Amino acid sequence: MKEAYWGYWLVVLGIFVVVIMLLIQNVTSNNSEDYHTVKQISEAAMIDAVDYAYYREYGEVKINKEKFVESFLRRFAEAANLTTEYTVTFTGVYEAPPKVSVEITSNTNTYVISSDSESFDIANRIDAILELNNRDLGNNAQAMAVNCNSNLADTSLQGMHGLSMITNAPIYDAFENTRTGVSTRSAEIGKVFTINGSNGDYWSIEYNGSCGWIESKYMAINLKDYIPNMEYNITNLSGNTDRVYYDGLAAPLDVPGATGVKFYSSEYSSFVPAVYSFAQKLKNANTSARNAGDTLVVYDVYRPNSVSLFERDRIQEMYNSYPLQDRLGSIGNYYASESSHNYGCAIDIAIKNQTGPSPINEMSLRAGNSNAVSNRLKGYMSSAGLSPYDGEWYHFSDSSCRNTIKSKTNASQINFWAINV
Ligand SMILES: [Zn+2]
Repeated sequence: MKEAYWGYWLVVLGIFVVVIMLLIQNVTSNNSEDYHTVKQISEAAMIDAVDYAYYREYGEVKINKEKFVESFLRRFAEAANLTTEYTVTFTGVYEAPPKVSVEITSNTNTYVISSDSESFDIANRIDAILELNNRDLGNNAQAMAVNCNSNLADTSLQGMHGLSMITNAPIYDAFENTRTGVSTRSAEIGKVFTINGSNGDYWSIEYNGSCGWIESKYMAINLKDYIPNMEYNITNLSGNTDRVYYDGLAAPLDVPGATGVKFYSSEYSSFVPAVYSFAQKLKNANTSARNAGDTLVVYDVYRPNSVSLFERDRIQEMYNSYPLQDRLGSIGNYYASESSHNYGCAIDIAIKNQTGPSPINEMSLRAGNSNAVSNRLKGYMSSAGLSPYDGEWYHFSDSSCRNTIKSKTNASQINFWAINV
């Protein structure tokens, strides 16, 4: 071979090496871009697929397989090169602990070198395990809030207000947790919250700025929200109207230290608490009254135990200074050491513009009498399942309501919104 030929082949070899290097660079740089895209997409799709209800219940991170695949494909389609054909294979997706294996192949990198076509099948394989720290979960707090309310079966109480009548009422972060009993916080007695809705025996509530579920039978609802077409004249807000009367007196006697005193703080002016089961019965009673053309007027419902005890002591002083025992009977007929009022399970109520056997809140024998008006009232209340009291025509209560609350908390502990006692 002539030396000139060697020179020719050296030039050809040089060109060939440059072409090969360009091809390799092209393939590897595309490949590394694809690799990082797939890695990012896998991570994002796994976070999308995290089951937050499961996390809140068990404290473990778990992903939803279908959600992961759906999110991965949607995200990959957005990022992929439109001229390239890809095959995506999910070689393994485990929900808990979250682990995914994805393989993506593309086969359009075909090169023709001096009539010899060569195709490069690029396969990217990703194996990923998801670990979430608290910051990541915090960023998804909104997703959790949506989840908390996702089981609302009834929204008729939405926007109404409630409060707990028992100590340490558990608040569940998700409806599912009401079955397992796993809770992370509890409601304080007397602290007002907003109701989002309900499902069976549970309310979804907004408590301290975040959503949770609570057992409604231990809760009071605001009667002003729940039964707005009754009238409310809560005398202990404007001035107590307790008086004593017996035959022969020209007019009822004030109770020194009690009559005229404001015993309820201003919260009571917008929120009249009654235990929910009691309020439901009362609502039926009110419907009967409305249908008969009567308007009911509410004078007292929940009464703090300290107010009951304070009033009882003032009456006891009258018993000591007047000979009331013979005229009125036992003081226990009027004030006990605890009352269904203290549990939010009793009401003092009358029919508007209709005269009963005695003034409301009068301690007298005539308060135990009846007339046509008191009988009509008794009819509305009894047919709704509320029990009358023989000694006071205007007082009705529900013993099952009281027993439910008392099974968890004593009257002396349920003591909010009391003043001047
Ligand atoms: Zn009463």
